[in-house]
Amino acid sequence: MHRTTYDIITVGGGLGGSALARAMAENGADVLVLESQLEFKDRVRGESVLPWGVAEAKKLGIYDGLMASCGHELPWWDMYLGPVRVLHRDLVASTQPGVPAISFYHPAMQEVLMQSAESAGAKVRRGARVVGLSLDGTPTVQVRVDGVDMKVQARLVVGADGRDSRVRVWAGFQARRDPDQNLIAGLLFDDMPAPKDANHLWLNPSIGHASFVFPQGNGRVRAYVIYPAETGVRLSGTGDIPLFIEYALKTGAPRAFYSDARPAGPLATFDGAASIVDYPYRRGVALIGDAAGHSDPTFGQGTSTTLRDVRVLRDLLLQLEDWDEAGNAYAEEHRRYFNVTNTIETWWTEVLFKTGPEADALRSRVLPLWQQDPTRQTDVIFSGPDLEITESIRRRLFGEE
Ligand SMILES: Cc1cc2nc3c(=O)[nH]c(=O)nc-3n(C[C@H](O)[C@H](O)[C@H](O)COP(=O)(O)OP(=O)(O)OC[C@H]3O[C@@H](n4cnc5c(N)ncnc54)[C@H](O)[C@@H]3O)c2cc1C
Repeated sequence: MHRTTYDIITVGGGLGGSALARAMAENGADVLVLESQLEFKDRVRGESVLPWGVAEAKKLGIYDGLMASCGHELPWWDMYLGPVRVLHRDLVASTQPGVPAISFYHPAMQEVLMQSAESAGAKVRRGARVVGLSLDGTPTVQVRVDGVDMKVQARLVVGADGRDSRVRVWAGFQARRDPDQNLIAGLLFDDMPAPKDANHLWLNPSIGHASFVFPQGNGRVRAYVIYPAETGVRLSGTGDIPLFIEYALKTGAPRAFYSDARPAGPLATFDGAASIVDYPYRRGVALIGDAAGHSDPTFGQGTSTTLRDVRVLRDLLLQLEDWDEAGNAYAEEHRRYFNVTNTIETWWTEVLFKTGPEADALRSRVLPLWQQDPTRQTDVIFSGPDLEITESIRRRLFGEE
């Protein structure tokens, strides 16, 4: 790293960092990506992108490259109450973007996007851990490579360092955390005989459990189980795999899916509670992706929101000469759309995941209404957050009008 000054430094080369680096480098910006990992491994992260995120990937010009390498199309959304399928939804025909969902293996996606950032002209430094940030004057990043620390500066530093972002802390952003509700545990399987053209969701709301299977092609799937945080059970390691499968079966998932499936990665559990930075820009530092806010993974909004962040920030940086103005406009816009998804997730959680007699009563009133008229749910989760959240939308969702 001979140069010490860039237009943009992204801290992190995940979905957000690499996609932004590519988008800005192909428009002539001088971009440096600092990524701590030399090789990407399974970190149990998002691998299913819902239609509105696919639309964002297309707008960013990364869709074709993903589909040509690691992407897999999922045109259907299948939902089950216990073992009974209650919805077989055609995502292309029924969502506002009119495109399918896709899935990919997360480490493969990171590799593809990082290479594509490099081909677009970004400088990529792997094995480079950012260890500090100063906001006095031009934002300055302290980075450690092979045990040696050095300083690099940029007009804009982008914190794309994920849900445990250190940039967020160093730059003095405050994150607000929602109350605990769900835990989510994930595990990759090979040889699972699940239909490969659909996302599968089983719900057992009376006990607050759910499970997902997201096929990636060739019998490989990412599976998740979701259960109440108050259980305090954090599934981890090979010893807990039988319990993971027991939790999946409790939701109604077919035993045949799991009987010969082979675990193919680590088992890890995460808090579902959302964590949000209200205004993710200050003094030459913008946060994107999970660093700016991670929603409850149960609702699969993380990759789509990250791609929205990248697209919105890219457009503003290209439009406005004053990047401080662009950063502030991005933060305003982020606040709006993140609030929409967060609000809908909170309402869906009330209906689908709360337990106890009151929650059961709410469900027995609301679910038949949702089934009669699916537009009551509002389609933010699939179609995206370009919607104003109003009191009348809330009342329709809860069947209170
Ligand atoms: C269990 C679980 C399931 C999920 N399922 C879904 C799903 O089905 N659909 C969906 O849309 N979303 C899902 N998500 C969310 C999704 O994974 C994230 O929204 C997405 O990965 C965010 O991308 P990112 O680039 O912001 O962060 P990350 O993917 O976390 O990338 C951050 C990068 O920064 C690097 N880094 C970190 N610190 C430093 C440092 N100090 N110096 C240099 N590099 C650093 C890391 O090595 C990493 O490569 C899920 C999340 C979890 C936890």
